[in-house]
Amino acid sequence: MGIIAASSSSTKRVLILGSTGSIGVQTLEVIEHLNTLESKGESSVRYEIVGLAAGSNHEQLAAQAIKLGVRDLAIASMCEEFDQSSFNFRIGKDAARRLVEEVPCDLVVGAIVGIAGLDSVYRAIQLGINVALANKETLVAAGELVIQAAQRSGSKLFPVDSEHAGVWQCLQSLSNSYCPPMSAPKSIDRVILTASGGPFRTHTRDQIENASLNDALNHPNWTMGAKVTIDSATLMNKALELIEAHWLFGLDANRLGAVIHPQSIVHAMIECTDSSVITQMGAPDMKAPIQHALSFPKRIQGCASKLDVTKLSHLDFFEIDPDRFPAINLAMSVIKEGGDAGAAFNAANEQAVNAFLNNKIPFGMIDQSVARIMNDWDTQPINTIEDVYAADSKARECIDRLCEVIAEKSQ
Ligand code: MG
Repeated sequence: MGIIAASSSSTKRVLILGSTGSIGVQTLEVIEHLNTLESKGESSVRYEIVGLAAGSNHEQLAAQAIKLGVRDLAIASMCEEFDQSSFNFRIGKDAARRLVEEVPCDLVVGAIVGIAGLDSVYRAIQLGINVALANKETLVAAGELVIQAAQRSGSKLFPVDSEHAGVWQCLQSLSNSYCPPMSAPKSIDRVILTASGGPFRTHTRDQIENASLNDALNHPNWTMGAKVTIDSATLMNKALELIEAHWLFGLDANRLGAVIHPQSIVHAMIECTDSSVITQMGAPDMKAPIQHALSFPKRIQGCASKLDVTKLSHLDFFEIDPDRFPAINLAMSVIKEGGDAGAAFNAANEQAVNAFLNNKIPFGMIDQSVARIMNDWDTQPINTIEDVYAADSKARECIDRLCEVIAEKSQ
């Protein structure tokens, strides 16, 4: 299904995968706002939520479903005592994928965190459904297969990640028809993503090594889930986003860069061959990129916080120090390497973040252990989604073994 077919309809049927997470909840708020505008005659598209998927929070999922009148639901793990009779529930690890297969829709919002989001988003793309993509791990782990599938099916990927939504909007200033998956035009020298620098932006490496869980979860600008907040503190989030940008916009590592920008106002920049730099700015509020992905190609009155530029005294940009934040160079190697390196990198990071959240390794071991796994990784091509999952499992086992060694040493 192409962009024109989806947007010419007066009703857009939406499936929200990951509806109880941070992006999912904000997506529901944006849809409520857009439907209020439609009911006042200020917008011509009505959004009908036809299905919701969550990981394990059945109470919140059921509350959302009752409020929105949604019957078709999916949940990865379910509490046995819960009365499911009012709903049509799919239960299990493949529940979100079955929801995509069984419930007709015009747009899937892919907001499940981590590799758990791959299966359902990949299926939506194979079926030719447009995806508003917040799950960066899908592209990091399986970008090659996902992009090939999108090119075959005609499915479009509307970036919800704020930096990629920024790049996309910068590219739209060159042509309205630009939409991922795409190859950035030759008139673009380089795409630069901004990173807030997280809570440890000014810390020494020694301080970073032993940062506490509370410090790492205390992001200065953005309110997000635990995984992405920890990823922001290691700058692994930016590393994953560089790989994501590589796939969305068809850019090699030498046309990608990242800078620290503590204010999180400029989300992305594109450096043009004619020496112009085009930027996208906005308050750090995920509702803005969510709305853009939902309403593209139209721009409608937004519900996100507005940016008042007169309140900004300065905007700062700094180079990223590779000694304190090795994640960025690791990402560039992964892009150059291709094959299953992305799947290994993503899985190693997810597993290391889990180990840190469970108090098994110190903060500084997250990026160090990922670096060690990638250093020894024997990259193989990926031909099927099973190859992606095989690399994912292998990298997780490597991290688990490393965590055991670290735990023994610290005793
Ligand atoms: Mg982002």
